[in-house]
Amino acid sequence: MQYWHKELETLPREKLEQLQLERLKKILKRVYQKVPHYRKKLQDAGINPSNIKSLDEIRNIPFTTKEDLFVDYPYGLLTVPIEKVIRLHTSSGTTGKPKAIFFSKKDIENSAELIARCLVMTGATKNDILQNSMTYGLFTGAFVMHYGAEKVGIFVIPAGPGNTERQINLMRDFGTTMLHMTPSYTLYVASVIYDKGIDPKKELKLKRAYLGAEPYSEETRKKIENMLGIDIYNCYGLTEMNGPGVGFECIYKDGLHIWEDNFLMEVINPETGKPVNDGEIGELVLTTLNREAMPLIRYRTRDLTRIISEPCKCGRTHRRISRILGRSDDMFIVKGVNIFPQQIEQVLMGINGVAQNYQIVLDSYDEMIVRVEIDREIFDGKIEKLVRLKDEIIDKIRSATMVKPKVELLEPGTLPISEGKAKRVIDKRTI
Ligand code: AMP
Ligand code: ZN
Repeated sequence: MQYWHKELETLPREKLEQLQLERLKKILKRVYQKVPHYRKKLQDAGINPSNIKSLDEIRNIPFTTKEDLFVDYPYGLLTVPIEKVIRLHTSSGTTGKPKAIFFSKKDIENSAELIARCLVMTGATKNDILQNSMTYGLFTGAFVMHYGAEKVGIFVIPAGPGNTERQINLMRDFGTTMLHMTPSYTLYVASVIYDKGIDPKKELKLKRAYLGAEPYSEETRKKIENMLGIDIYNCYGLTEMNGPGVGFECIYKDGLHIWEDNFLMEVINPETGKPVNDGEIGELVLTTLNREAMPLIRYRTRDLTRIISEPCKCGRTHRRISRILGRSDDMFIVKGVNIFPQQIEQVLMGINGVAQNYQIVLDSYDEMIVRVEIDREIFDGKIEKLVRLKDEIIDKIRSATMVKPKVELLEPGTLPISEGKAKRVIDKRTI
């Protein structure tokens, strides 16, 4: 099969680690020579890239944070002349300027190659038709997937997000077999397919969907899989590391493989910066091992996960990470308790009668309001059923988070629809 680079994907661990070390030394030498900001960091830490003997020594190198991207903004981290850059992608930061990442021709080809490996890993072939409903533009999501799918020979429909009616028509008219969307938008699209009385299992040719760009739970995966009768594969990435395809599930859907010939991964305690014990949850830190224009060393992703070291049934030796549990900066505090939006989502999507959309509103430090759309039959039905559903939601959120929420049940279609990343938490305390 094309792009099933068996030898590389099943490389024995010692060999893979040897390759990582060679690449790490090379990339450190490059940033030392070409990037004053990195040279200073390495010199201050007393590190000479030529003397690195083992992968563990990476722990002596200072982290790269989002803030470092702005020190010599925008071109300061380039290791190639601007003439060698062929594309810019950005990701919105929380303040001011966007994070800017530059790709050389080799980087574009490589990012496509990595996505190609990912798609093939899930069973996709050149006979598939991919409806790519991420945003084309400055974001990485759509473009990187597009080039990767084309590399496999997949027929790509560059749909972009939104206009749900048109999305469904495209699926029907052209026989889309695979989707690339955010999970929140897919939930919405699935609900519209139902509202229109379309039986997706009979009238559409969908087989799989690659969902990512935001956290979602196993419950959401199952809900969409059941609604559409397809397989959903979790696709994780961030602009700073090329975008989608940094972590991707194989057919076993049990954790996301990271292509370790391209990324060196660590998981650290976000407070202390020290590595966590094997398999413990912490913040993912990534080093690009094969990037030409703008390598990043020990980049703090802020994403929380854990490394799964056990070998995968698929035979690939590149280790996996668990589903992203949230971002360390997504956490909010109510009544002194730390809560991740993901915990609420996981509860809601596992409850029968809850529809696709919800929102968490925080207007005081003592109360969390959960606004949740419910199925039409229940909304229009008997009051006892409504009360029972509301109590179930309150109880389950309380046992998952230790905080009793105020729950508002809403008619389907009340809350804003997201076509990209959903904004689930409205924190009025910080506005
Ligand atoms: P961006 O650089 O704008 O594409 O955003 C990247 C961020 O989106 C990551 O750092 C994660 O926080 C989030 N993200 C992307 N894919 C996933 C995924 N599959 N699961 C959870 N979060 C994700
Ligand atoms: Zn696997």
